Amino acid sequence: MPEGTRFSRLARAGVLTSPGMQITDVHIHVQPWWELRPAIFDAMTRGRSDLDELHRIMKSPAHLLRRLDADGIARAVLVNYPSPEQMGFTHDANEYVARYCAEAPDRLVAMGGVHPRFAEDAGAEVRRAVATGVRALKVHPPHMGFAANAYLDGLDGLRAIYEEAQRLRVPVMIHTGTSIFPGARSRLGEPMAVDDVAVDFPDLRIILAHGGRPLWMEQAFFLVRRFPNVFMDVSSIPPRAVLRYFPRLAEIADKVLYGSDWPSPGVRSMAANARDFQALPLPAEALVKMLETNARTLFP
Ligand SMILES: [Zn+2]
Repeated sequence: MPEGTRFSRLARAGVLTSPGMQITDVHIHVQPWWELRPAIFDAMTRGRSDLDELHRIMKSPAHLLRRLDADGIARAVLVNYPSPEQMGFTHDANEYVARYCAEAPDRLVAMGGVHPRFAEDAGAEVRRAVATGVRALKVHPPHMGFAANAYLDGLDGLRAIYEEAQRLRVPVMIHTGTSIFPGARSRLGEPMAVDDVAVDFPDLRIILAHGGRPLWMEQAFFLVRRFPNVFMDVSSIPPRAVLRYFPRLAEIADKVLYGSDWPSPGVRSMAANARDFQALPLPAEALVKMLETNARTLFP
């Protein structure tokens, strides 16, 4: 679409006029990099030219806020989770992200996690994380080594995590789709496992990270339409390819959240991602929902 057409369409909807869209990026990774296993660190940082800044950002909220301002991002959800065997992160990630986000609670949302195999009492670990300031949880099947519905096969700690999250009204983001990090088990990223979770925990708000890309978009689309409390984010899908992955994205605009997955491999800048996403030929109202209002509802 020509630049002028897009501008006038957005301007008509008030998007580009005062005071500008307050974009929330619901999926960025500001994490304790010093806990990463060496092979993962290499995969994470290979070929990046902004490593010095990234190292500063992992340690300092002030540096992140400067980056968000420069990139035109109002708020961000900082995705963390323990994955002691595969990534190297421990439950300390919860305190790290809670403290970090406490420096700017109006702009930074702390997402942490509990690993049911590394917590003595997973429910208590959820309560502890939430008491520290964690406002959402991440479950990462390919990096944690179990399916999203493994509580049906005896992983009781996982049931406790979902139960506590549902009770405390804490949204849970579940990774769906592949992962290219060494040791990741992509098979466990199949979205249909979340069908059980949505049935068994109907009041739990679930976000399917990455919409099952690049193998299982139909499954993700089905789940989002089937369950009132299942949402998805479009992070790590190259924005220009989003409509190829999800041709009917506008139909589920009420349930889709914009996210970049920055600074994961292949995601060079939050600004470029947001700009490309806003340029998609979608109704302006749909863009406003996905970039701004849905995230405000889910992460008030
Ligand atoms: Zn991610």
